[in-house]
Amino acid sequence: MQILIVIVIIVVLLAFLLSLWPFILGFIGIYIIHRIIRNIRKNRYFNSEEFIQHTSKIEATVIEYNEISEYINNIPKNNQFIPTNNAKDHSHLVTFENTSNHKYVRDRNEKSINTGNIYSTSLQVVRKASEEPIKYLCKYFDIKATQNNLDQLQEIGNDISRMENTIENLQLRQKEIEDNLNPPKFILKHYHKELMSKIGVNIPPIELKYAQYIFEYVSAGGNSSQKSVIDFNGPTIEATSEYIVEKIKYKNSAKGQRALMTRSLRTVIKERDDYTCQMCTAAVKDQNLLLLEIDHIIPVSKGGMSTLDNLQTLCWKCNRTKSNKIL
Ligand SMILES: [Zn+2]
Repeated sequence: MQILIVIVIIVVLLAFLLSLWPFILGFIGIYIIHRIIRNIRKNRYFNSEEFIQHTSKIEATVIEYNEISEYINNIPKNNQFIPTNNAKDHSHLVTFENTSNHKYVRDRNEKSINTGNIYSTSLQVVRKASEEPIKYLCKYFDIKATQNNLDQLQEIGNDISRMENTIENLQLRQKEIEDNLNPPKFILKHYHKELMSKIGVNIPPIELKYAQYIFEYVSAGGNSSQKSVIDFNGPTIEATSEYIVEKIKYKNSAKGQRALMTRSLRTVIKERDDYTCQMCTAAVKDQNLLLLEIDHIIPVSKGGMSTLDNLQTLCWKCNRTKSNKIL
């Protein structure tokens, strides 16, 4: 009896779909025609006098974009803290990830979830971790209060900040190129990749990726779970560095050297130097998209500190030349 009902339902459904087929065919036809027309319009635009003229006008801007797009490969993709003390005891907590093969993602806020750094724990610890994230991050992921760890945090923070700064600069340049070109909206929407390759813009295959530290509680039956997730981004690294500095200061009260690199210090240096490269005098007031970086005059590796007198503003080209000389 039940089978009969099922058969009847299938027959009715089939009849219904069959009666609809002219509409379905119609829709498919309209869609195909729409795509063909759009393609013709696209080809017409790319071959138009207007497009060719605009492209030659932005040539210099594109060349500069591509130089920085190449330069971004020099910035270390360093986003993982590697515990140096008792590394063996706690190595199961950390996954070292090779970040060299990341695909390009246009939106720099888009993050991929890194499932490596997970600490399975009690519900109480998960809750406390959300109240005091830095304290729990340091305690459970083995970021001990040592000068070595502080140096490592500062290095990661510096690399992330350089990467953010450069990606942002590239995005502004890409925006400028698009604004100058001012292509029809449908080109930007549907043929963005083709447009970029037609005008020779090499978008770098780089994604900004923050590590994540996760405190997770899963109930015995596996039915409920709760998580506290800490993004290991600029603000987290800054707060962690400050936390470690305080602890080091407490341990050897006299020696506590408070010379941290922070976002606000980077801004202070750029402002002090009037957004001008201290080597070649290139300035933002002349080139509004100039990529500026903060340089340690005496490198950190040679004992240089993040103090006002040891920091200067350099444009990316001079910074590259300087670091090539040191290497
Ligand atoms: Zn310069």
